[in-house]
Formats: sequence, structure tokens, C-alpha cells
Amino acid sequence: MTMTPIPATLIPGDGIGPEIVDATLAALDALKAPFEWDRQIAGLGGVQAAGDPLPVATLDSIRRTRLALKGPLETPSGGGYRSSNVRLREEFQLYANLRPALTIIPGGRFDKIDLMVVRENLEGLYIGHEHYVRIDGDPHAVGMATGINTRQGCRRVLEYAFETAIATGRKKVTLVHKANIMKVLTGLFLETGLQMYEEKYKGKFELDTIIVDACAMKLVLNPWQFDMLVTTNLFGDILSDLVAGLVGGLGMAPGANIGADAAIFEAVHGSAPDIAGKGIANPIALLLAAALMLDHCKLPEKATQLRRAIDETLNIDKVRTGDLGGTANTAAFTKALVSRIHGV
Ligand code: NAD
Repeated sequence: MTMTPIPATLIPGDGIGPEIVDATLAALDALKAPFEWDRQIAGLGGVQAAGDPLPVATLDSIRRTRLALKGPLETPSGGGYRSSNVRLREEFQLYANLRPALTIIPGGRFDKIDLMVVRENLEGLYIGHEHYVRIDGDPHAVGMATGINTRQGCRRVLEYAFETAIATGRKKVTLVHKANIMKVLTGLFLETGLQMYEEKYKGKFELDTIIVDACAMKLVLNPWQFDMLVTTNLFGDILSDLVAGLVGGLGMAPGANIGADAAIFEAVHGSAPDIAGKGIANPIALLLAAALMLDHCKLPEKATQLRRAIDETLNIDKVRTGDLGGTANTAAFTKALVSRIHGV
């Protein structure tokens, strides 16, 4: 049976991006996933080819497809251009960042982890409203940042988290905040979440609240006490990397950026310039992002088939890249994965 083609934008990205995208396309081809790719550029690749880290053609493509798979994009630290990732989130109002963390390789320091982090993706201290204040001739005497959270922004990400918790059978949602110190900025998030729970969600799952620093400690001491975490932008950024560390590091962590009418899927890690071009990158994070994309496109059987093939390649065939303690390069891992998808 032929499936209806699904138009989707493909951004290979910078550094190891093209290497892990090639691996992911090989797997999606083997699965006969019906994506009709429109290849576009962004990040450093955009600057080099079109003088723009987020060219108009790339934005137009996502406006048309409303769906993208994206490799990592390089962002210079300090000066230089603004992050294309943050701009994409703003442009398409991708307000929720979903980062599942699941143990695939058993027997590590943290076994049997199955945790979901939902991060607010557009507000808080991440909005980039920053400036210096000059004092006594020193132009950088003071650095200042403004954080903004809105009731409506809190509501939509909390609603996404709560609905996702119900849809995926999560028993407990933990709302992470710092309302003891940042009483306004994160107090609004806490207050909105508690109110929504009372009004609409009570009894559908357990709601717990925790201060972010205590949450970080408890995640390391006993991560199994958590099921889903929902939090503001900056805390979500930090905690989701911590959670990725529990399941084998950034090479295993996918992310989905979800808006009302567009979604962008990516690996959580960056462009890894230290290993780019060596053919040794672990493509699993982007492969798992592709599985989230298949779920999003209502192709759950293909998503399950992909996840199972990754599991079998790692645990039965024992084919693993260097970051997971193995000796396979990206091509060897991809070959083994494609064989598993074909049922060989
Ligand atoms: P990074 O995630 O690129 O690398 C951190 C470490 O993890 C490196 O040692 C790297 O080799 C390793 N690593 C990352 N992904 C790996 C993989 N798939 N397989 C094996 N090893 C892997 O973080 P960084 O070095 O801080 O950032 C590099 C660039 O990436 C920066 O320009 C940053 O802005 C950008 N970045 C982009 C995104 C994104 O596009 N979503 C996310 C994070 C960082």
C-alpha cells in the first residue's frame, strides 16, 4: 500500500549534522517513511552559503511544510549572530520542547529510566533581552538580563504537558520552579500550574511541585521518583541535559519543538565540532527524534519499528559508537541498523 507523501523540511545543519542526517535518512528509507524532503540550510552553513544563518528560503519551506527534521546548528558564543534555533522557535511559536529520556542500554549507572521533560520554549530568561550598563568609563561594568513569563505562555505549555501526560499514561507530573526566590517570574508558572490542575486535571495524574535546585539533586540521587517534569525555559534547558546524562549522554537524547501549527524535531546535542568529519558521531539522538516525528505524523508503527531496531542493534548485535564504549563508526552502526529494520 502506498502512503500519502508527507512534505517535510530537512536541515542537515553544521558539524556532525550531515553525518547523522545521512544515517537517519537511511533508516527512514528502510522504513519506507513517506516523507517528501525539501532540503534547506541554516546556521553556519546558511552564513557561508547565503550570508544568513536563517535564510528566507528555509523559513518559507517550513511555512509550507509545517514540519522539519533538523541537524544541530552552530552558534558562536559571546558575539556573532543570534541562535538560529531560538529564532526558529520564535518564528514558528514552538512553545513546548519535549525531551523524553529512556534507558536503551541496560546495566549502566542509572538503569530503567523512563522520564519525560517538557520545557517552556519561548519565554523566561531565554528571551535574550540583555544589556550592559556603563559605570565610570567601564562599558561592561554591569550585565543585565530580563526574563518574561506570561500567564498565556505558562498556560499553553502546562496544558501541553498535562495533556501529553494523560495521552502517554504518565502517573505523576512534577512542576519545577524557583518561586521561593524568583517569586514573580517563576511564581506565575507555579501558580498557573496549580490552578489549572485544580480546575481541570485533578485525579487524572498526581501533581507535585519542587524547587529546581532540589530537583537537580534528587534527579542524581533517585531519578526513578520522577515521571514527567514540566518547567520554565532556562531550568528546562539545564535539567533536560542532566536527564540526558542519566541515559547515556547527549548522543541518546532527542527533542521535539512543538507549536500550534508547526513542529521541528532535532537531536538535543550540538554540532560537535571536535569530532565533525571523522565519521564517528552517534546518530541515535537524531534517529530517536525521527521516531518522535513519526509519532507526530500518526505513524506509530513505524516509530516503534525504528525504536526496536535501535534497541536490537545496540543490545543484541552490540554495535555501538565510541561515545557508548563501542568501536563502530557512524557508517557501520547505520548498516547494522538498516539490516535490523529489514528484519535481517
Ligand atoms: P555539543 O553537543 O556539540 O558537544 C559536546 C560534546 O559531546 C562534544 O565532546 C561532542 O563531541 C560530544 N557529542 C555531541 N554529540 C555527539 C554525538 N552525536 N556523538 C558523539 N559525541 C557527541 O556541544 P558544544 O560543543 O557545546 O556545542 C557545539 C556547537 O553546537 C555550538 O555552536 C552550539 O551553539 C551548538 N549547539 C546547537 C544545538 C542545536 O542545534 N540544537 C544544541 C546545542 C549546541
